[in-house]
Amino acid sequence: LFVDTPLDTGISVPVEGAAANYLGNVMRLKPGDPVRLFDDRSGEWLAEVAEISKRALRLAVTGHLAPREAVPDLWLLAAPIKKGRIDWVAEKACELGVARLAPVITRRTIVDRLNGERLRAHMIEAAEQCGRTALPTLAEPEKLDALLRVWPADRALYFADEAGDARPLAAVARPGPAAILIGPEGGFTDEERAAIRALPQAVPVTLGPRILRAETAAAAAIAIWMATAGDWR
Ligand code: SAM
Repeated sequence: LFVDTPLDTGISVPVEGAAANYLGNVMRLKPGDPVRLFDDRSGEWLAEVAEISKRALRLAVTGHLAPREAVPDLWLLAAPIKKGRIDWVAEKACELGVARLAPVITRRTIVDRLNGERLRAHMIEAAEQCGRTALPTLAEPEKLDALLRVWPADRALYFADEAGDARPLAAVARPGPAAILIGPEGGFTDEERAAIRALPQAVPVTLGPRILRAETAAAAAIAIWMATAGDWR
């Protein structure tokens, strides 16, 4: 369970709302039962149910289980797509181990407003489900050309480009600071593609012969990079 306050042995953690309902009525926890917590700061802690009532619980933290995990230094740069789909991308990026989710506004991006709180809630839920103890950071949406102008010299930019000559991602993925760039439903314009390819750190990659939905391309590219270059193996 994610707790957005610094955890420490001996502190008491009040749990209300949906989390309390889940622990009390779905998991049917009883006083003394163990609960694993993480605060996205100091790793994973063991707690136990101290008190339980209809709508609230109180947990007592009893010990430290593990330090905050280190995930491979992979960013996902994705043009925001329709609400339900970008939520799905945020969830899969979290499960698959992405360190940072950076929404990129491109010429054909149709979604220009993003609800960061909602995306963060989806990532917290995904982390609780998959056992991550470090949440991906969620960057503010940025325009593509602004991002390219300040691109970090040491970070490879794997540019998912179904429209041009590109190498299979699995063949070119390398460990180290990296980012995957996925376009919107309408794809990148030719000017955008040329500007991205002009970046010395850009590595155009293909994800196969078919045109994937943006969310499919994002999940596939992260999984391929993680499997071939992620330093968690
Ligand atoms: N140009 C596509 C079309 O003609 O329908 C629209 C873009 S596609 C729906 C969304 C994004 O997914 C693309 O901008 C690209 O980043 C990525 N993508 C989709 N299929 C891909 C593939 N086979 N290889 C690499 N990237 C792909």
